[in-house]
Amino acid sequence: MKVNFVDLQTQFQELKDEILPAVESVMSRCAFILGDEVDDFEREFAAFCGVSECVGVASGCDALLWGIKACGIGPGDEIITVANTYIATALAVTMSGATPVLVDCLEDSFEIDPEAVAKAITDRTKAIIPVHLYGQAADMDAILALAEKRGLLVIEDAAQAHGATYKGRPCGPMGAVGCFSFYPGKNLGAYGDGGAIATNDPEIAEKVRMYRNYGQSKKYYHDVAGWNSRLDTVQAAVLGVKLKHLAKWNAARRANAESYTEGLKDTPLGLPVTVEGNEHIFHLYVVRSDKRDDLSDYLKQKEVYCGIHYPVPIHLQKAYADLGYAQGDFPVTEKVADEILSLPMHPNLSAEQVEFVCEGVREFYR
Ligand SMILES: *Cc1c(COP(=O)(O)O)cnc(C)c1O
Repeated sequence: MKVNFVDLQTQFQELKDEILPAVESVMSRCAFILGDEVDDFEREFAAFCGVSECVGVASGCDALLWGIKACGIGPGDEIITVANTYIATALAVTMSGATPVLVDCLEDSFEIDPEAVAKAITDRTKAIIPVHLYGQAADMDAILALAEKRGLLVIEDAAQAHGATYKGRPCGPMGAVGCFSFYPGKNLGAYGDGGAIATNDPEIAEKVRMYRNYGQSKKYYHDVAGWNSRLDTVQAAVLGVKLKHLAKWNAARRANAESYTEGLKDTPLGLPVTVEGNEHIFHLYVVRSDKRDDLSDYLKQKEVYCGIHYPVPIHLQKAYADLGYAQGDFPVTEKVADEILSLPMHPNLSAEQVEFVCEGVREFYR
């Protein structure tokens, strides 16, 4: 039996009869740039997130960048985020001209540590970017309270959290603006790149609408220095079809996670902790092992393909050498980076596949 890390093939076969006509419709109307499907998807995704505004953009990285710029943040400002995230979170801060200030994560949940955030605030801090890593919410009560007290904005990186909730509230728009990615492997993925911001602030939405379309307020009138960063209409058509299935897929991921947890409970692996109040959507099912690399190799030889999210924390990336961080600055992040392993996780995993993975892990430890 082969167990792929993700399985977009099976999903496409299941959706083909819905996807192909939707794509053909865009092409037959030549509605390539900001066609009706973009508006439709924005409306539907806003409703899904329980907000008034959604603006589609070219990627999750761009959603973060325009979200930051729409908040009026740029050169000279600092934004606090977590060292334990995908590089895009930090790069968007850098591209805005602001400086990323990194903090450590919590050991149990892998999420940003609110106490570390409090300590990192300076006169130049303008915002906090909590990342809802792996599909569950960061500690938003603590982050939002801190932001309120210190007059900071909260910009959520919800690239791994489409449909995750925190104490009943959807991840994304709890602060000023929520930023989503529709990279193909995300819980809601396009057939190419895509992203969106979700907000209840019409001014932020309007600014992002300008930034994504050359900064224009109307055709050939450019009010700000924007960029070409539009959500492609073909991708919006795909997303419109897929959004209808998202709740079901998230439930399937959750069920697979439960089966993993049951099948692995008697092994020495550290298993993912769902923090109380969180509805986890298991973008990734991340376990911990001090024999991570050996375990990964063992599983690979059984055709069970795992991933590591992420092997090198942001502060130890060459691209960020100039921030002046060093090994030892964020001990929890560094420790987990050496131990984490993402087991195969997608909605189409069969019970037999989950059991095969669990049996492989049990065998490794026998
Ligand atoms: C995927 C991801 C992004 C970037 O999204 P892209 O669409 O690939 O640009 C940002 N942050 C996190 C946490 C992600 O997982």
